[in-house]
Amino acid sequence: MNALRYLILSDVHANLEALEAVLAAAPRADFDRVLVLGDLVGYGASPNEVMAQVASLRPDVLIRGNHDKVASGLEDTEDFNYLAAEAARWTQTALTPPHRRELAALPAGPRVVDGLVEVCHGTPYDEDAYIFDELDALRAIEATQQPICFFGHTHVQVAFSLRGGRLDIVWPGRNGTTPVALERSARYLINPGSVGQPRDGDPRAAFATFDSETREVVLRRVAYRVDLAQQRITAAGLPAALAERLGVGR
Ligand code: ZN
Repeated sequence: MNALRYLILSDVHANLEALEAVLAAAPRADFDRVLVLGDLVGYGASPNEVMAQVASLRPDVLIRGNHDKVASGLEDTEDFNYLAAEAARWTQTALTPPHRRELAALPAGPRVVDGLVEVCHGTPYDEDAYIFDELDALRAIEATQQPICFFGHTHVQVAFSLRGGRLDIVWPGRNGTTPVALERSARYLINPGSVGQPRDGDPRAAFATFDSETREVVLRRVAYRVDLAQQRITAAGLPAALAERLGVGR
């Protein structure tokens, strides 16, 4: 396989300011493949703008998340907490009909990208399940088809690796660039973090890159105009808590 550079984005959640900052730091032209792991909308105030921007990237793989299903009317808000449900109802009315149809037509994960990489929203065995701890990670790695699986859904940047029955975890450092060297004998489960609503206490937008030649994943963070995203949320009449959490990365 030729050397390929991948850009991996997840959980943009209708946050246009965060997405634009990520694409300024990691321009489309620098990458051979763009993988988008779902939850384009929900929580943030720019669902149509984010959908248009993501479409303009011509992603090689784009799968749906749980918020995409609810905002497009495929599922109801039964499994959602109050804030998520309020945001989903607002998003349903804000979406243009074409965007709503586009969202409803997104494929479910997991998807095999190539002989090295696959992606899912939550886990490879259930698109809505969460990978929080080592047990979750072990169960998920067992369900993968390729050595490297990128996942989202938790909004927490992390890399799990399994080699010889031993599970290791890499958490991102504070400087915004955390390289993870991939070994050929190990299997990986990597969350690029959330572009639009990080929940690991670092409010900066999160994403990841992968170079198949150097076998290096980089967990990255980029600062963005949180204040502008917050103003948009407030102006849209969405719950104030959705604006506040962006400021603290929760
Ligand atoms: Zn999400």
